[in-house]
Amino acid sequence: MLNFAVGPVQMEEEIRSLGAEEIPYFRTPEFSKLMLENERLMKRLMKAGEDARAVFLTGSGTSAMEAAVMNLFTGADRLLIVNGGSFGARFVKICEIHQIPYTEISLEAGKALTKSHLEPFAGQGYTGFLVNADETSTGVLYDMELISRFCRENGLWLVVDAISSFLTDDFKMEEWGVDAAFTGSQKALALPPGIAAMVLNARAAARAEAMEVKSLYLNLKDYLKNGERGQTPFTPAVSVLIQLNRRLKGIEERGLLEEQARIRRQAEDFREKIAGLPFEIVSESLSNAVTPLHPTGTDKDGNPVSAHRIFEILKDEYDIFVCPNGGALAESVFRVGHMGNLTPEDNDRLILAWKDMHKRGLL
Ligand SMILES: *Cc1c(COP(=O)(O)O)cnc(C)c1O
Repeated sequence: MLNFAVGPVQMEEEIRSLGAEEIPYFRTPEFSKLMLENERLMKRLMKAGEDARAVFLTGSGTSAMEAAVMNLFTGADRLLIVNGGSFGARFVKICEIHQIPYTEISLEAGKALTKSHLEPFAGQGYTGFLVNADETSTGVLYDMELISRFCRENGLWLVVDAISSFLTDDFKMEEWGVDAAFTGSQKALALPPGIAAMVLNARAAARAEAMEVKSLYLNLKDYLKNGERGQTPFTPAVSVLIQLNRRLKGIEERGLLEEQARIRRQAEDFREKIAGLPFEIVSESLSNAVTPLHPTGTDKDGNPVSAHRIFEILKDEYDIFVCPNGGALAESVFRVGHMGNLTPEDNDRLILAWKDMHKRGLL
């Protein structure tokens, strides 16, 4: 199997074999030590301040999206949400469920966020800003410098879903004044799904501690309190946290820059190699995490090639996963991920499969 999905992604052999081991009991000084190290390393890789905190939720990335909204905002807030695809839409849904007033900045699929999108909302009494740094559904990386400046100038709390941009594109939590940011274990961390890691700056941690939250499981107060001694309020995905520790230490040893460069080279190699194939890249502002492609060709019967069909054929006949899109883009766009344990030779295998599909009149 070869996996170019955007999560879960291919894991290193060392990480996979750790996952095969017995799981230790976790209310121990040894596990606490590992968790405190995880917190220290997550903060450093997010480029957060010394006084920031990291907490680990056992849940997918969405658990962190919902926890951030519930623990930092109330019905008295007014939020701006960048909605450029299915993950922006998820923030909208979360605010709707929790009855937090919001305004959407809706972007067409593949479009970048510009100054003119933000200008109308300056000085309008908004209190918070929610954005997916990389809107993974369309592979659009938003301009975080622009967003950061806007939030500073207007006194907005800034919450960033960095689920697919953590490690793939630069992230400067403290410099950008990001109050809360989070990622999920199955994206560029290249671990099994199950852990969402969230970093809160000092004022966000203080706000979460003071918040009345109507949830047992997603009450960050308890995670912050237990985290002081390297523990979690409930049984966490222990094995994923052990794998996380190995992975974070590996990145620390090689250097964050090298990890980012490896993913960037994988993306650039892919984008060079698809020249001449019947695809169009549909994002104006590409992240290194993923390349969104629109098939431009016709099949042997003269019908436009379906993006979803390409996903199915690659899966069933070539043992290769790419990532299909849902909703309105299902037939017109699919994505190729660059995160995880992939090499330029893996890109070659995918290109060869497409050349073969072309020969068969399927592309
Ligand atoms: C993958 C992803 C999510 C959702 O993560 P789950 O782990 O599926 O809950 C949210 N936001 C972004 C930007 C993502 O890439």
